[in-house]
Amino acid sequence: MKTFTTIAELRAQLKEERRAGKTIGFVPTMGYLHEGHAALMNEARQATDVVVLSIFVNPLQFGPNEDFDSYPRDFARDEQVAKDAGVDYIFYPTIAEMYPTGKEQLTTSVVAHRRIDRLCGEKRPGHFDGVVTVVTKLFNIVQPDKAFFGLKDAQQVAVLQGLVDDLNIDVAMVGVPTVREEDGLAKSSRNVYLSPAERAEAPHLSRALQYGAELLRGGERNRAALIEAVTKRLTETGTGVIDYVDVLTYPDLQPTTTLSGQVIIALAYKYEKARLIDNLIMELN
Ligand code: AMP
Repeated sequence: MKTFTTIAELRAQLKEERRAGKTIGFVPTMGYLHEGHAALMNEARQATDVVVLSIFVNPLQFGPNEDFDSYPRDFARDEQVAKDAGVDYIFYPTIAEMYPTGKEQLTTSVVAHRRIDRLCGEKRPGHFDGVVTVVTKLFNIVQPDKAFFGLKDAQQVAVLQGLVDDLNIDVAMVGVPTVREEDGLAKSSRNVYLSPAERAEAPHLSRALQYGAELLRGGERNRAALIEAVTKRLTETGTGVIDYVDVLTYPDLQPTTTLSGQVIIALAYKYEKARLIDNLIMELN
């Protein structure tokens, strides 16, 4: 495994690989790696010849009052996780390498228009513009055959699929199911910021989603009733603050009064130092 901090050196290496006929799999992350990230690396390892992992906490996708500065970072540990998962190359650029003119001084950037007016797109204005811009840059740098993203961030998967479709980016997108702790809590780099009491309580998020799924399986198709039921369950079982609970079509993220087809139940929940998200996608028949 080799780590690259410059775009030029990574490009030169990947050019060689491509010349040798190797396919390239790409896993973009913000680091502080856990088993969720490892699942993406494992999928990439199985699907492609060369696995590239990027670790970059992208300032463009954080709002002014969000956790960019305090986002957990531990490169030495990440290197070990990546090595264990069989990653070939880590791309670990500085902010200056990615935004040499400064992130406020870009001549051009990419803007997300649809699939962003609800959920995290609504609550974090500008977030998905930062995501689609950095992912476009990373795709241009790595030029992967396949890219791997977690369905834990299902809205991100939906928006990025729109990006590659609309801008004709030649990459196959692979969505990987959410990896959870034994008690159901979705693995997240931000879980380290939960207090012991919050950590003990946090599985109520996935349980509330499961409750919503049970209602759907039982025939509930009224969107408002589902949102109300899941919200009530969360309020009764937790001490944090609900940021949102929503039930929408997936991947278009449309609110429809009567649910049908593929739907997502999604939530965001704020604890003292960590805002957690989780979701569940279901095909209704
Ligand atoms: P992040 O480092 O949080 O930006 O995540 C990098 C990638 O890992 C994204 O595609 C995430 O959706 C994915 N990911 C994060 N947590 C999980 C998880 N628990 N299960 C599956 N994928 C995940």
